[in-house]
Amino acid sequence: MDFRLTDEQRLVRDLAREFARREIAPVAAEYDRQAEFPYPIYAKARELGLANLAVPARYGGGDLDPFSICLVAEELAWGCTGIAAAITLNNLVADAILLAGTAGQQDKYLGILGSGGFGAYCVTESGAGSDVAAIQSVAYPHAGGYLLQGTKIWISNAAEAGFFIVFAKLDPAAGHKGITAFIVDRDCAGVTVSKKLSKMGQRASDACEVVFDNVYLLAENRLGDEGQGFRLAMQVFDGSRPMVAAFAVGLAQRALDESVAYARERRTFGQAILDFQAIGFKIAEMGMRSQAARLLTWDAAWRATQRERNTLQAAYAKAFAADTAMWAATEAVQVFGAYGYSTEYPVEKLMRDAKVLQIYEGTSEIQRTIMVRELSKGISLS
Ligand SMILES: Cc1cc2nc3c(=O)[nH]c(=O)nc-3n(C[C@H](O)[C@H](O)[C@H](O)COP(=O)(O)OP(=O)(O)OC[C@H]3O[C@@H](n4cnc5c(N)ncnc54)[C@H](O)[C@@H]3O)c2cc1C
Repeated sequence: MDFRLTDEQRLVRDLAREFARREIAPVAAEYDRQAEFPYPIYAKARELGLANLAVPARYGGGDLDPFSICLVAEELAWGCTGIAAAITLNNLVADAILLAGTAGQQDKYLGILGSGGFGAYCVTESGAGSDVAAIQSVAYPHAGGYLLQGTKIWISNAAEAGFFIVFAKLDPAAGHKGITAFIVDRDCAGVTVSKKLSKMGQRASDACEVVFDNVYLLAENRLGDEGQGFRLAMQVFDGSRPMVAAFAVGLAQRALDESVAYARERRTFGQAILDFQAIGFKIAEMGMRSQAARLLTWDAAWRATQRERNTLQAAYAKAFAADTAMWAATEAVQVFGAYGYSTEYPVEKLMRDAKVLQIYEGTSEIQRTIMVRELSKGISLS
């Protein structure tokens, strides 16, 4: 087993690391305060090939494999997970189109992403988050196409999106087998995007409610076959969860780096607090858990790159890394004492930003239910 990165992987990681330190970290607090979408940072990231990472080069994307995407995501998230989420969310949309899109859909919609546009991914509803099969959005057959009716909530990048990937049922009473995916242009009659929802953390990335009120869709707006939407959503999760895990590793690493720097400088009782075992051990533990989270993330991403099924490993990585990020950010606040509680220092934002990593892309509890399901099938060491 060789853990060394290739020259290309090191190059793209170093580029992202430099970008996060120079362009993201210095402005992260201000974007968070204003809850403002980071358009200028997105534009610079695009120029460098650090946005639209999964979009093929022929459409203007970064054309990276899942493993390299995780390397980039970790570095961007070190700078700010909110900004990282805002500029990498198109990956989720691109993955769905690459997995199920026709050549025409790929040309049109990957082209929009590659040329600076945004898409949004609409699964969640007010009554159905973890339980995807319980969604109530419906697409009725109509005039050779469909009429889409439903309301989605917590949709990231909806305010910026030029189109939406929407999951709905042809029969509202059907379970997960009734779900079908559609691509809906924002300018279709009947599409309304609410104002941004107020959030605790990752405030540079917005989330909105999106209403689809009898939106007429042509048959060519269907993404994949009828009834294949649930399967598609789960396949996309297998690709996106390692990326979210990489965000969490970046945040945990930032908590560690900030803690080491502060604990070296801060003196109490005549010595640096780093030299008190109670503080030193927190730092040791942050390093150990962050590296364990990184290796789980690399394992899940590497399997995705080899096109191996990685459902179990993606769940391990997502849950462990998100829980590690939340824990490390909380410990970093403790290392900083009162200054950790101050909005003038960076670690309170880490704590606010970390929380949602345990919620979106499947909660930490749902990841564990996936682990039980996979482990009970005997999938553990392959
Ligand atoms: C900032 C943000 C951005 C988001 N972006 C998007 C997006 O772009 N697109 C999108 O579609 N969605 C998005 N979401 C929604 C997100 O995916 C859901 O919030 C998440 O899946 C959880 O669903 P829920 O909030 O309905 O919680 P619920 O499903 O109601 O869960 C509530 C609690 O019960 C637990 N629980 C539920 N079922 C079980 C079970 N079977 N076993 C054990 N525990 C269980 C959960 O773990 C959780 O702790 C976003 C959410 C946030 C906060």
